[in-house]
Order: sequence, then structure tokens, then C-alpha cells
Amino acid sequence: MKSLIVFVFISTFGLLSAIGQEEQSAKVDFIFPKGNRGPENLFTGNAFNYSLVGIDSTYTTLVGNVYFEPGARSNWHTHPAGQILIITDGVGYHQIEGQPKRVIKKGDVVKCPPNTKHWHGASEDVGLQQIYIVPNTENGVVNWMEAVTDQVYSKKE
Ligand code: MN
Repeated sequence: MKSLIVFVFISTFGLLSAIGQEEQSAKVDFIFPKGNRGPENLFTGNAFNYSLVGIDSTYTTLVGNVYFEPGARSNWHTHPAGQILIITDGVGYHQIEGQPKRVIKKGDVVKCPPNTKHWHGASEDVGLQQIYIVPNTENGVVNWMEAVTDQVYSKKE
């Protein structure tokens, strides 16, 4: 009887910690306020933008935080002066047109070269939190294009 109780206790504990880990992996730790939802014509799914450094003539650098819910992604777009992404939590994708989709995750730094068509967003199951840095804003910030289709988003590379 005593060993049965111990067994039930260990099983229950194991199950609870497994559930805890699953929740942990799907959740993203927020650093900044969630911000405002990106418009439907520029993002598929729910993406939230929070501005950190606005455009001005002294720094000419735009900095902000985006949280993508699982499955959410930007439309295809270019940045006239390029863009740097710093992934602060979660898992997602970045794809440059004509190249395979690349998995990006917490701790990664991604350089999107100037005038290069690309998209970025969360993975299917885990959200993505990224800080974006757009330098030399006097050259422009972003040129938006078409949405990333489900076929392109889900393609196994
Ligand atoms: Mn970009």
C-alpha cells in the first residue's frame, strides 16, 4: 500500500511537471508592454508592436518590439536601409525570397540586408518576441508587399 501511494505521488508529480514544461515552452516572457496589434493588411494573425525609439533626426534609427502569437507573421517586405532583429524569446521563422525558411529563436541576431524581400514571424506552436532596429531611417523604413501564404509559411524546408 505504501509503495502504491509513493507510485501515485511520483506519477502525479511527473505529470504536473510535464504540463508545466509544455506551458513554459509555449509562453513568451514579456519584457515590454504588448503594444498595439498590427493591421490585418500587413500581418497574418496577431502581431503586436511597441515602439521603443521613434524616428528622429539625431539617431535616425527606429527601434521597437514585436510579439508574434503562434502562426502570426508579417507580409513580405523590404527595408531600404536594412534591419537588425534581436530575438528575445520564443521560436519563429525568417525567410529571404529565394532562400529556405530559417528557424530563429531566443538569442539569435538576424541581419536583413537593404532592399531584400523577406518576412518574419512566429512558429506554428510557439510565439516569437523580437526587437527590431531599422538604421538610417532617412532612407525609408519599410515597403510592404503581399501576405505570406499558408503554403509558403508551412513549407518544410
Ligand atoms: Mn523586416
